[in-house]
Amino acid sequence: MSIPFLDLQAINQRQADALKAAFARVLESGWYILGKEVQQFEADFAQYCGSQHAIGVSNGLDALHLILRGYGIGAGDEVIVPSNTYIATWLAVTYAGATPVPVEPVEATYNLDPARIEAAITPRTRAIMAVHLYGQPADMDPILAIAAKHGLKVIEDAAQAHGAYYKGRRVGTLGDAAGFSFYPGKNLGALGDAGAVTTNDPVLAEQVRVLLNYGSRTKYVNEVQGYNCRLDELQAALLGAKLNLLDADNARRRAIAARYLAGLQGLPLQLPSVPEGMEPVWHLFVVRHAQRNQLQARLQAAGVGTVIHYPTPPHLQPAYAELSIARGQLPIAERIHEEVLSLPMGPHLSDADVDAVIAAVRAAL
Ligand SMILES: *Cc1c(COP(=O)(O)O)cnc(C)c1O
Repeated sequence: MSIPFLDLQAINQRQADALKAAFARVLESGWYILGKEVQQFEADFAQYCGSQHAIGVSNGLDALHLILRGYGIGAGDEVIVPSNTYIATWLAVTYAGATPVPVEPVEATYNLDPARIEAAITPRTRAIMAVHLYGQPADMDPILAIAAKHGLKVIEDAAQAHGAYYKGRRVGTLGDAAGFSFYPGKNLGALGDAGAVTTNDPVLAEQVRVLLNYGSRTKYVNEVQGYNCRLDELQAALLGAKLNLLDADNARRRAIAARYLAGLQGLPLQLPSVPEGMEPVWHLFVVRHAQRNQLQARLQAAGVGTVIHYPTPPHLQPAYAELSIARGQLPIAERIHEEVLSLPMGPHLSDADVDAVIAAVRAAL
């Protein structure tokens, strides 16, 4: 028996005909950058999220960076970020020239703890970047209330949460703006790099459009020092085909999560918990155990592929030595990183696969 953590070949093969047709359409069109495929995907993704604007960009990191730049957040400014996240959240802040200020998560949900945010706010704070980690929305209402009280922007890092709902509202519409990643392994994944910004703020939408294309609205007129962060026509065409399956794939992830939750009851293992009002999309199914490394090795020996998301928190990465946040200063994030393990998750898994993973976990503990 062998169950891979993820199987992108199997996932994309299901739509081979639609993806080949999308490729053929772009090839035949002779138009490869900023054309009707990007326009169509932007319209479709905005409709999917329920946002007024969606802007295709090169990847998720650039999406977050362009939002910060679009709001004029940079040198001398502070942005509140989760201590427990993928490093790209922090990299977007430092890329913009601002300083990430980490806030610890709620242990049960792994997401930003609203009760800890106000203590981290200073006169330099400009924004709160909330991450919907592992596909579960952060607790946005208290975050939005704190932001309103202090005049801060709220930016969603929705890279792991395409289609998730928070109290009936879809992620990507909860704050001032959201950044999505379409990295191949995400719930909506391209066949390469891609991303999007969603927002209901028309001024920000226009700023992002100008910034992503050399700071130019009119060809050869450069208003600001922009970037090249464009989404390709080809990736947009492929993503359009894949968007048709996103809700069905998320439903399948939900069924797999329910099967895991039932099958893994009663073990000495912390299972994911879903608070009232949250509808996660299970980008990852993350369990927690004090002897995580041993559990991973045993599952590996049993043919079950697992991954650690993530082994080292951003503040302990060499890249952020300059922030001088010593080990022990963010103990919740540090403990989480030592104990979490992601089980196989994705629409490629059969019920028999899930049952085999459950049996392997039971045998390993
Ligand atoms: C994947 C991811 C990103 C970055 O997206 P890329 O497309 O790889 O640049 C940002 N934040 C989180 C939480 C992610 O999981």
